[in-house]
Amino acid sequence: MMTINDYLKLFDEGKLTPEELLESCCSKIDPDLNAFITVTKERARNAIGSVDGKIRGIPVAVKDNINVKGVPTTCGSKILKGFIPPYSATVVERIEKEGGLLIGKTNLDEFAMGSSTENSHFGLTKNPFDRERVPGGSSGGSAVAVATGSAIIALGSDTGGSVRQPASFCGLVGLKPTYGRVSRYGLVAFASSLDQIGIIGRNAMDVGILLVIIAGKDPLDSTSVTVDVQDYTDLDGSLEGIKIGIPEEYFIDIDEDVLEAVIEIKEILQDVGVSFPSVSLPTSEFVIPTYQIISYAEASSNLARYDGVRYGLYHSGVNFSDEIRKTRNDGFLSEVKRRILVGSFVLSSQAIGEYYEKALTIRSLIKKEFKDALDKVDYLLTPTTPSPAFKIGERFDDPLKVHLSDRLTAGANLAGIPAVSAPAGMSRNNLPIGYQLMGRPFDEKGLLSIVHQVEKIKPFELLGE
Ligand code: GLN
Repeated sequence: MMTINDYLKLFDEGKLTPEELLESCCSKIDPDLNAFITVTKERARNAIGSVDGKIRGIPVAVKDNINVKGVPTTCGSKILKGFIPPYSATVVERIEKEGGLLIGKTNLDEFAMGSSTENSHFGLTKNPFDRERVPGGSSGGSAVAVATGSAIIALGSDTGGSVRQPASFCGLVGLKPTYGRVSRYGLVAFASSLDQIGIIGRNAMDVGILLVIIAGKDPLDSTSVTVDVQDYTDLDGSLEGIKIGIPEEYFIDIDEDVLEAVIEIKEILQDVGVSFPSVSLPTSEFVIPTYQIISYAEASSNLARYDGVRYGLYHSGVNFSDEIRKTRNDGFLSEVKRRILVGSFVLSSQAIGEYYEKALTIRSLIKKEFKDALDKVDYLLTPTTPSPAFKIGERFDDPLKVHLSDRLTAGANLAGIPAVSAPAGMSRNNLPIGYQLMGRPFDEKGLLSIVHQVEKIKPFELLGE
């Protein structure tokens, strides 16, 4: 499978030009799949050749909740209608400085709230492996862009699984870095203590190449940290002697094909000298309720800024509160409204002790449990999702069912640890399956090394390759 370095080599040898690669990516944009909200081909074309960096001439797609100066940011919502950010997110600046070409802004569940990319004002995105199924979410557009070759790599955001879950549904590698590893400046906030910008790529090497560029302290984001950025492209270190824990709680009620595929990954790793002590994470049953309370609470506060005055959509009314009511009622879809209502409730004086404060206490228990487990073993191996991609519409009216598909991913957000999803194989009905690895804070290099070495033993062929 081609890596970004292979494309750069073809450029250097004169066998391919960045213009040709951009043209070929754009020709693969399929309107029926609806991966993009805005295509910025002209911007990409104009940037060709102006910078000679680490990813010169490589088309990159960006989830449409990350700001690109001069290009509309919609967050998949009507409420930001007409909003054009006057600045770029730090990650976008860093990518452009290294010669990356921004090919477009990708579709998402409104404000990144969802697991299927069905909740977008701009229509749903379809899974290219089976158009009757969802691509996952909320970074579904980014995953589909990469899976179809319309972009070589893409940025997403991951609050409870939104990078890893669509990567797993589309046969890709999706990395959620450690909280603070990557600047959030210019990412539209959903739940600030959980949000992290992540990367969706076709292989571990590509993800490593992009992470080297976007990771590191940013003075514009006080939650970004000064911990050294490692060489995430140096992925060939031996796995001999590494310990990977298999938490039994993450293997309950899992689709049979998924179980088989993840066990196969375990066997591959066993053959190269990895051992698998058993570990237990008993608080995992509280991950989803805790995630829901904390993320809704933070969302209700973060989304208060969309009042019709500061950004985008505005409806006139008889007084200010009437204007706000009309604007927010028309601007948000129902899932976002539901979360704002529940989030405001759990923060209200009568409920804060019963809900929000309890959730914070349980969050620290969950965090401690991950820390204790990761003191004993180096990594944790689990499925990324309980089942492969589900049918469009199947879970649309059942928010709890949608949330339960994140029950294996949201723990890493609550604990702030890094996690990656990578292809484990295909299901009987030909849908991609992902395995997930979680690690200690700032060990993105270790996670990507394992994925890279599994890729060498069990290569995953993308659509059309
Ligand atoms: N699916 C989860 C939710 O609906 C996670 C979303 C995300 O990671 N942005 O909240």
